[in-house]
Amino acid sequence: MKYMETTLRDIVGSENNVYLRSGNSYRESLRDGRRVWFEGEYLEDITSHPKFSGTVDMICRYFDAHQSGPLADILTEKRENGTVSSAAYMIPRNTEDLRRRGQVINAVVDMTHGTMGRGPDFMPTMLLGMYGSRELYIKSNPELGSNVERYYEWARQNNPIMTLAFVDPQGDRTLPAEEREYLRVVDRTESGIVVSGAKVVATLSPFAEEIIVHTLYRKDLEKDNAISCAIPVNTKGVTIVCREGWLTPGKEIEHPLSSRVDEIDAMIVFDRVFVPYERVFYVGDTEIPKYYSTTALWGHWHVMARITRRYEFIAGAASLIPKVIGTEKIPQVRDSVAETLRCLETCRAFLRAAEENYGIMGGVAHADDNIITTGRMYSVEQYPKMMNILREISGQGLIMRFPDKAFDDESFGTVLKKAINAQNYSGREKTRIFNYVWDLCSDSFASRLEMFEVQNAQSVPKNRQLWFDNYSKEELTALEEKVCRIVDVPTPSF
Ligand SMILES: Cc1cc2nc3c(=O)[nH]c(=O)nc-3n(C[C@H](O)[C@H](O)[C@H](O)COP(=O)(O)OP(=O)(O)OC[C@H]3O[C@@H](n4cnc5c(N)ncnc54)[C@H](O)[C@@H]3O)c2cc1C
Repeated sequence: MKYMETTLRDIVGSENNVYLRSGNSYRESLRDGRRVWFEGEYLEDITSHPKFSGTVDMICRYFDAHQSGPLADILTEKRENGTVSSAAYMIPRNTEDLRRRGQVINAVVDMTHGTMGRGPDFMPTMLLGMYGSRELYIKSNPELGSNVERYYEWARQNNPIMTLAFVDPQGDRTLPAEEREYLRVVDRTESGIVVSGAKVVATLSPFAEEIIVHTLYRKDLEKDNAISCAIPVNTKGVTIVCREGWLTPGKEIEHPLSSRVDEIDAMIVFDRVFVPYERVFYVGDTEIPKYYSTTALWGHWHVMARITRRYEFIAGAASLIPKVIGTEKIPQVRDSVAETLRCLETCRAFLRAAEENYGIMGGVAHADDNIITTGRMYSVEQYPKMMNILREISGQGLIMRFPDKAFDDESFGTVLKKAINAQNYSGREKTRIFNYVWDLCSDSFASRLEMFEVQNAQSVPKNRQLWFDNYSKEELTALEEKVCRIVDVPTPSF
């Protein structure tokens, strides 16, 4: 039976001890009648669309890599009860486990060449966060809250691709909440709720099987807008409205990154979508959204670990470029390369420290919140700077790139080869390197990735503000006291 046709309760407690999934089962499951609107048309079958198939293939490879090949041991976990499942769902209990789980993050970043902000193993960490903070949900509503644990186990056994939908449409902020297209409960039945409205920038949603809906706290939040639930993408009334696509299929040489994957962000429109109670985690509680950052603790650790791994590619490119164009001895260039390495090492240090100083919530180890949040802010503040370094040290190399066949042209091919020639590489090879750098830091694919890095876990200014709001008041007082003591004045009491 296809898992999308089963209910949660049917699946939990299955006798099957191996909960791994093949790429083919994923590909097949996408032919499920979903409504995906892309560049002016509804797509019958996203798996065969040239701007989608690369991403589908990548996710298929991720699932297949669990079953065979060099990554299988890293990607799978055998539990004490004998079940084998994806290590994306492992429940960390200490530093060692966090690092073990971190290997999965690294493996996925490497597999996808850092092209996916929302790799297939990201959402399991968001579910882990819900599981770790399940007491919050249970406190809100014991029956609905207990769905969190059930859903986590169901997801572990079924490996759905999930999308995260927590952000509301920008819209006109001067309008009252009831006039905005916020997702809201429009009806209730004995067995569930009916929701309408929209959620936005749900990355990977056209490729997802499940939509995980959360609510961010805001002052005008009304009870009917406070919803957390899981909705199958092919549910009646769900439409995925995609942004334009940036995949460049068939251009593997010219665009080594953007030809592989485009994780496509989309608006999800809900038109009287029925959600059975077993898929609802809370509803009508305007307090629990205040704790979203607690639930997102594990997701934020994933964000930090993933960007740290991505910085390896960025530092690698920065180190390579001067060696290609012969500028590696220029002090300012060396300093720029060193800056990318300092950024990488600083991120690694944040990650290591956060994992060492882990805390426990709901029996699950999480990386230290303060260190991860500080590290995350540092990492995203650095990102535009790192992109600029790549552009700066590349110079014309980023622009003077020509299609492979240009080198064979009878009239200018010979000149081109010599003109483009690099100190260690042929003109063709140099072009390949700069094609990669272009995709990494300059074209629309790169700009979107940069937007993703700086916005995906809330905007930098908002995070800065939250970080300061949440900073330990005791620590602040202690710092102020140090100064006040020197000049013999009282410490402020506000
Ligand atoms: C590429 C990309 C992928 C994303 N993927 C996902 C996803 O998968 N799932 C999902 O749910 N969301 C996703 N997001 C949404 C992301 O979380 C939001 O874009 C982010 O939280 C900012 O919210 P907003 O876009 O509504 O910005 P707005 O609230 O409209 O704010 C716009 C700008 O105004 C300023 N601003 C607004 N409010 C404040 C404040 N309180 N303090 C200081 N400055 C402020 C900031 O500069 C901010 O960038 C994605 C975003 C991008 C760009």
